[in-house]
Amino acid sequence: MQFKQVVINTALPQSPKGRVLIIYTGGTFGMTYDQDGVLIPFDFALILEHLPTLRNLALELTVISFENPIDSSNIEPAHWQALATIISKNHETHDGFVVLHGTDTMAYTASALSFMLEGLAKPVIFTGAQLPIAEPRSDARENLITALEIASAKKDGKALVPEVCIYFDYELLRGNRSKKVESMQFDAFDSGNYPPLAKAGVKIDYNFAYIREVKSNGALKLRTKIDANISILKLFPGISTSTIEAILATKNLKAVILETYGSGNAPTFPALISALEAAIDRGIIVVNISQCSGGMVTQGRYETSRELLRIGVIGGADMTTEAAVTKLMVLLGENGESSARELIARSLAGELTV
Ligand code: ASP
Repeated sequence: MQFKQVVINTALPQSPKGRVLIIYTGGTFGMTYDQDGVLIPFDFALILEHLPTLRNLALELTVISFENPIDSSNIEPAHWQALATIISKNHETHDGFVVLHGTDTMAYTASALSFMLEGLAKPVIFTGAQLPIAEPRSDARENLITALEIASAKKDGKALVPEVCIYFDYELLRGNRSKKVESMQFDAFDSGNYPPLAKAGVKIDYNFAYIREVKSNGALKLRTKIDANISILKLFPGISTSTIEAILATKNLKAVILETYGSGNAPTFPALISALEAAIDRGIIVVNISQCSGGMVTQGRYETSRELLRIGVIGGADMTTEAAVTKLMVLLGENGESSARELIARSLAGELTV
């Protein structure tokens, strides 16, 4: 992967109040029109032309751009590894990080980074836009300005929000609790099972009771090994046994997310239960995640989840699918199957309620 780097001091001639590293990956945010009126990715070095008010923030901005910005539908674990490595290398020297990313897979990348950056002590704020920055009504400007303000916010020398978050449409959400829920309106993200960490109005109101504290002694542990041998089995009325068996027979499969109904319920037809049981017997980790965006999996509450509990399906509590996918990939890559099985239902980065 190729990157370009520029440093922009928005404080000159004064000295900057803080240092923020912006990583520009692509997405709608950075689109502008060429001379023929076609949307193309803009050169981030020219950000001050699009957003002169940035100067009022008085920050030193290091900008690392993907040489070829991408639509976030093309995001791969290799991009997560690159982002986590850049953040880890710059963790000591910057007050915070802003990652500009397409909205489509932003919740996956933010979730992945929350597991890859253990002991994070600085804000990593993801943002993007529903309308390109070149559009007069674009949401890009507000999203970026406030994300920068949050990324550099400190009290008594310590970061106010030392976690991976998504800032979008006046709300700051925990990254590994977030989902993209809207593709036309500006309020693209929601975290149904966790309150916003801040709301931006006339001032930014932080919800301190819900912001994670830095647990470690400040040393950041980078975890970049990823094993993507996982799958998702989403249940629907009428799902065929052959679909279920085909997913569970995926080559090299190590873990599967069973996307269930309501509080973790599934149909009780024997072919489903026996296919899952056989998979669990072969050592495949099966995690129960609800298709609902609010509430939690409680296996055994209804008859329709009692069998899942009996055969050893692991309840995923109130984790999002995005968090479960990325957590499994990191745990399998870094720790292997037996610890992934043990750790998947524990909160590692505030992604589930225990
Ligand atoms: N398809 C775009 C992306 O995710 C949408 C966006 O940026 O909002 O890259």
